[in-house]
Amino acid sequence: MKRNFSEAGMGTKSLWAGEDDSLAKGATQVPIVQSIAFTYDDVDDWLDVALGKKEGYIYSRTTNPTFAAFEEKVRILEGAEAATSFASGMGAISNTIFGLVLPGERIVTIKDTYGGTNQLFREFLPKLKMDVALCDTSNGDQIEREIRAGCKMVYLETPTNPTLKVVDIKRMAEAAHKVGAIVVTDNTFATPVNQKPIELGSDLVVHSASKFLGGHGDVLGGIVCGPKDLVKKIFHYREITGAALDPFAAYLLIRGMKTLQLRVERQNASAMRIARHLEGKSEVATVNYPGLESHPQHEIAKRQMPGGYGGVMSFALKGDFQNVKRFLNRLKFAHRAANLGSVETTVGSPATTSHVEVSPKDRAAMGIPDALVRYSTGIEDVDDLIADIDQALAP
Ligand SMILES: *Cc1c(COP(=O)(O)O)cnc(C)c1O
Repeated sequence: MKRNFSEAGMGTKSLWAGEDDSLAKGATQVPIVQSIAFTYDDVDDWLDVALGKKEGYIYSRTTNPTFAAFEEKVRILEGAEAATSFASGMGAISNTIFGLVLPGERIVTIKDTYGGTNQLFREFLPKLKMDVALCDTSNGDQIEREIRAGCKMVYLETPTNPTLKVVDIKRMAEAAHKVGAIVVTDNTFATPVNQKPIELGSDLVVHSASKFLGGHGDVLGGIVCGPKDLVKKIFHYREITGAALDPFAAYLLIRGMKTLQLRVERQNASAMRIARHLEGKSEVATVNYPGLESHPQHEIAKRQMPGGYGGVMSFALKGDFQNVKRFLNRLKFAHRAANLGSVETTVGSPATTSHVEVSPKDRAAMGIPDALVRYSTGIEDVDDLIADIDQALAP
């Protein structure tokens, strides 16, 4: 059955989108098509598919029915024309940049991107003679000035990992389009339940599907969504360089995404309560959460995150890293692990999680204090999480 999703809500889309054409012989769930290549009885049919005259599958580094269903699901949730998937979030991000930007061209971005992304900008792109302008994330005027100076791509992430800073997507997209630049937004932290970068003017949206989309801490994946012509170029780079999603991983992502809206709504609500609670604790120096009125970009967040402010926050404890270690070690209902967006609460310090790839000196330069804790709220009962935090903070 062909379904029309134009009037459907997020929850309905999470369940049904992308699966119409992939139901094999009446199975109610998308099958894992664990096949590298696809066979044809008639070589003429094969040729037609290879030449793009007919729809079909040839080889799973390029396309596969299971990961096509995942791509279609995210495409519809993000309101995009096209989507293509990857083995990880970094696969999606690096292929998006390398597929679209050439040596000598300029990228404007922010200092607070995810650690791996930051390494691309600081280490790998300069090696390829790409010019990278790293702007102060909270300084909208500076970002806009750098964009106006001309660039091929504007690369944004909002809210940022682990500082939870917020960038005004609409404002930067308007500036970028005036100079003919492509806007890319990493929507991993917000998810399409909370924020729709394409509606705000971003051309492309990238995700680490390993986080909230999968949602269960058991599968790596990435995806980029956007206009057909741009996605086609990125897809072509991926089909040749090979960072393809695995069909079994795609199946786990599809399964995880069925409950995306339920999980994210719960995580939004719990994180909001926990952030407010932490603001009242004497052991806590600062709390970074876009939903708090005290957040410097709260007004922007209110505008561009109509669904909610997400499940992740960070906060600085008073004292030094010893206090952070003691606090983390005492938590009962939290994995001390380098992950986020899972159904279980996960905690870490940027030094061991998002910015493990970045040197202590560079971390300090990026304004990431050693006493910072990143807290990714799970779907546990929120009262249990608050009690757990209180006992871990107690003297
Ligand atoms: C984790 C993360 C990535 C990288 O994703 P992987 O799937 O681990 O490669 C990129 N961006 C953000 C915001 C992330 O949190």
